[in-house]
Amino acid sequence: MRYSALSVFLNGLRGNSNWAAAWRQPEPKPHYDVVIVGGGGHGLATAYYLAKQHGIRNVAVLEKSWLGAGNIGRNTTIIRSNYLLPGNNPFYELSMKLWEGLEQDFNYNAMVSQRGVLNLYHTDAQRDAYTRRGNAMRLHGVDAELLDREAVRERLPFFDYDNARFPIKGGLLQPRGGSVRHDAVAWGYARGADERGVDIIQHCEVTGIRRENGRVVGVETTKGFIGTNKLALATAGHSSQTARMVDMTLPLESHVLQAFVSEGLKPFIDSVVTYGAGHFYVSQSNKGGLVFGGDIDGYNSYAQRGNLATVEHVAEAGVAMIPSLSRVRVLRSWGGVMDMSMDGSPIIDRTHIDNLYLNAGWCYGGFKATPASGFCFAHLIATGEPHATARAFRLDRFRRGYVIDEKGQGPQPNLH
Ligand SMILES: Cc1cc2nc3c(=O)[nH]c(=O)nc-3n(C[C@H](O)[C@H](O)[C@H](O)COP(=O)(O)OP(=O)(O)OC[C@H]3O[C@@H](n4cnc5c(N)ncnc54)[C@H](O)[C@@H]3O)c2cc1C
Repeated sequence: MRYSALSVFLNGLRGNSNWAAAWRQPEPKPHYDVVIVGGGGHGLATAYYLAKQHGIRNVAVLEKSWLGAGNIGRNTTIIRSNYLLPGNNPFYELSMKLWEGLEQDFNYNAMVSQRGVLNLYHTDAQRDAYTRRGNAMRLHGVDAELLDREAVRERLPFFDYDNARFPIKGGLLQPRGGSVRHDAVAWGYARGADERGVDIIQHCEVTGIRRENGRVVGVETTKGFIGTNKLALATAGHSSQTARMVDMTLPLESHVLQAFVSEGLKPFIDSVVTYGAGHFYVSQSNKGGLVFGGDIDGYNSYAQRGNLATVEHVAEAGVAMIPSLSRVRVLRSWGGVMDMSMDGSPIIDRTHIDNLYLNAGWCYGGFKATPASGFCFAHLIATGEPHATARAFRLDRFRRGYVIDEKGQGPQPNLH
């Protein structure tokens, strides 16, 4: 069924009782051309583009939980392509262009809202670094504007500009950045993939990977053995665990990242804003709640919840930036498990096993990458060659020394 204004109207007249399920609930077949492990944003987008771009439809996505239970349904929904380094820049801009046409492409309302992403700066040195980043973005055809203090104040009058330690001096704005309703992205890709014949199998955990003569022949799951010609891992925070099934050790650590949402408020902040003097970022959801977060908790964990020390740290940074936040009530907080790589950049590559492919290392910035990640991973699986914009995200870059350290933090996963 194609969604349209007319279909909404006609279904409304019939009491909304005739909507078809957005995707089927199939039982697994004995064998597929491609099996994707992980029904998060990246796994579902990969299945969608495999079917749509490459005509490969005999595909299964195996998800151990319900669809959207992982980070795709837990992130703070920010999209942007404001990167400095050549390895990152074209890839995230491809993603931004895909976001811009996504809702029409997969016929689903994902509430893509290009309301701008503003990174605040507080020192002259930080302004110079942002100027450099803005120039790099513009050289790659990405939109960027450096705002001075008064231009920021005009957009965001409630912020503390004269904070004694961290006065706001201006900001780097990417007007095309913004936010997207995260779980609608999972649902839209799932529906689009399902329509093209992909089997999305929920509550099906992969517990082992079977190999014969050096090749993967299938996966052991809680629903039995499923054979495949090609296996693709897209398990985000659990990548180390799934890679271990073929004795691979990845250059990743799993860390917890928390997020928070406040009670609904009248329109208050109309773009995404990041604090440049601490780790804090905030936007306002369409329902009015402030959606915000900060740094990872800082210890390795597979738990989807964090601890109070980080809550306190995030609250402190938030109130330093927006004093009136101290009177806002927080409604909910939650955590997700992040696949933090050694250089803060992702991996989209083949592995040492011929028909095993890996998509991982998204740190806390993989939501914005979802369309390009799926697009490029599907290209790699279908053709055997990396997509031109994802060529830098090879697994062997750590051995070769070609790391993509956007933040310049060194080989410290918890700092990226
Ligand atoms: C609090 C928070 C805020 C964030 N904010 C942003 C943001 O604003 N912008 C941004 O760009 N990024 C953000 N991120 C990061 C982003 O959400 C992730 O990088 C991205 O979602 C990871 O890819 P995914 O969607 O495929 O992951 P997931 O949704 O986690 O998908 C992986 C799936 O694999 C499944 N799985 C694992 N092991 C197995 C197995 N053995 N068998 C079967 N299935 C398995 C899991 O259940 C899971 O559903 C944030 C993350 C968090 C937690």
